[in-house]
Order: sequence, then structure tokens, then C-alpha cells
Amino acid sequence: MHDFILAKEIIDELKKIVQEKKLEQIRSVNVEIGTIALVHDGFEEHTEDISLENLQFGLQSIAKNTEFSEVKFNIKKVAGENWKITNVEV
Ligand SMILES: [Zn+2]
Repeated sequence: MHDFILAKEIIDELKKIVQEKKLEQIRSVNVEIGTIALVHDGFEEHTEDISLENLQFGLQSIAKNTEFSEVKFNIKKVAGENWKITNVEV
């Protein structure tokens, strides 16, 4: 579940970065994924294992209908909490 919520958050963040930096034609995005604590569907904040496969699939499904349809997402699991976009390549 967290993988799909996360996919949406990553695309939203990417949109923000693209607007702020006025980037065009992004080729790839590097994302680091730590432990993700979320509140959803009436559950209190908790963590779940993130499936990188599901996350990749989620990102591609959302990106498909946007300007990011050709973007390659490089996802890396890291120690620590939360996630961040570490690089955007044009
Ligand atoms: Zn959950």
C-alpha cells in the first residue's frame, strides 16, 4: 500500500521541482527510499516494507499520463527514514 501512496507523492514532488527549476524533457530521476511511516485508511501511523517493484510500477502507471511518461526512475533503498529525490537529469 505504501508503495502506491509513495509513487503519487514522488510524482507530485517531481512536478514541483520541474516547475521551480523550469526543467524540460527530464530523462531520469533518482529517488532514495528509507523507512516510510504513513497514516492511511483509518490506521494510525505505521511503517510497511516498500516493494521496489510495486513502487516502480506505481510510478510508471502515474507517469504514463503525464509529461513524465518517458522518465526513467532509479530507485534505491537506503537506511533511515522517509524518502527524497536526489537527482533529476534532463
Ligand atoms: Zn500502511
